[in-house]
Amino acid sequence: MSGACQGKPNNPPTHGQPFWLLAEVTYRCPLQCPYCSNPKDFASYNNQELTTQQWIDVFEQGRKLGAVQLGFSGGEPIVRQDLNELIGAGRELGYYTNLITSGVGLTEEKIKSFKKSGLDHIQVSFQASDESVNSLISGSKKAFQQKLAMAKEVKANGYPMVLNFVTHRHNIDRIDKIIELCVELKADYVELATCQYYGWAVDNLHQLLPTQEQLARAERITNEYREKLAAEGNPIKLIFVTPDYYEERPKACMNGWGQIFLTVTPDGTALPCHSARMLPIEFPNVTEHSLESIWNQSQGFNHFRGYSWMKEPCASCDEKEKDFGGCRCQAFMLTGDANNTDPVCSKSEHHDKILSAREQAKTDPQTPFLYRNEKNSRQYADNIIATSNESSN
Ligand code: SF4
Ligand code: SF4
Repeated sequence: MSGACQGKPNNPPTHGQPFWLLAEVTYRCPLQCPYCSNPKDFASYNNQELTTQQWIDVFEQGRKLGAVQLGFSGGEPIVRQDLNELIGAGRELGYYTNLITSGVGLTEEKIKSFKKSGLDHIQVSFQASDESVNSLISGSKKAFQQKLAMAKEVKANGYPMVLNFVTHRHNIDRIDKIIELCVELKADYVELATCQYYGWAVDNLHQLLPTQEQLARAERITNEYREKLAAEGNPIKLIFVTPDYYEERPKACMNGWGQIFLTVTPDGTALPCHSARMLPIEFPNVTEHSLESIWNQSQGFNHFRGYSWMKEPCASCDEKEKDFGGCRCQAFMLTGDANNTDPVCSKSEHHDKILSAREQAKTDPQTPFLYRNEKNSRQYADNIIATSNESSN
């Protein structure tokens, strides 16, 4: 591993230390969610996973840089046979450790042994509150019962538990049933996170995006449940996230590029956010550079730090310190130029793309889901399936 990273700029913009280290330990996953945020060509990287020792080395370097939270994600992290060892190493280094899992492949024994290794927290994702929609979205008929059983085990073993429901037009009308299921499973936190349109979700936008009416209704019902549950003394926290397709200003993506998040992909590529691999930027790899030089000196991490890269209208906008011009991936996907204003912003000249997606959501999609699976991923990599919403600089 070399100490210095190629392309060191003379005056890198100022930034703090990474707070969150997200270890995407594998892209392998038995499920096929059409909103998966993994890159569409993920199958090209399946034989290039970092070894156990390489991961532990990354964790050590991350702690030295100041990271305190370590998330194990994927793909499905459970498929890594060394996950227990990785969790133990992370805990020993003093991280707060979090496992983000679909629950598939999890067992009572694994839940217990992860606990022994010091795992602090588990997040289990569901596709829906009922088996048929869960099977439709995940591409697996067995997943729902497995998730239910594992969520119960997670609680039985004393972990704080987050249940994550990605909501979309197929499940959002049953938000009451979703919340009731979460109450029944004794979740501590519930993320009702409306699908964000990156990765595979971009090509399934019409199949997934709810209408404004669906969203408004779901938010109202969630608020009613919040009041009811609080009145009953139930400590469950319901977190409702709207898709930015229904906002007029973009989110402050990742709290600013290269400010607090650091993602390492299965093959060791370091990214300022888990979607950034799609950008026409060369990102450094932990097998070639130290994490310190990647974070502080690499072109990839310095690319969108500060404000000097901004074009109009962001460059002279008095809101730029609030939202940093929005999401660079979304700007790239929808305009072909990652330096542009995120089209979610109503000041963007490309905002009409967001408005037409809202209009399209009022109609029924005529095409089936494009599932996230190995076969489709290989077709992307070989340019057999066109990347419908992406264009390059
Ligand atoms: S979103 Fe679905 S397909 Fe993608 S990694 Fe998670 S469980 Fe697997
Ligand atoms: S113009 Fe740019 S900085 Fe201003 S609100 Fe829109 S996205 Fe934010």
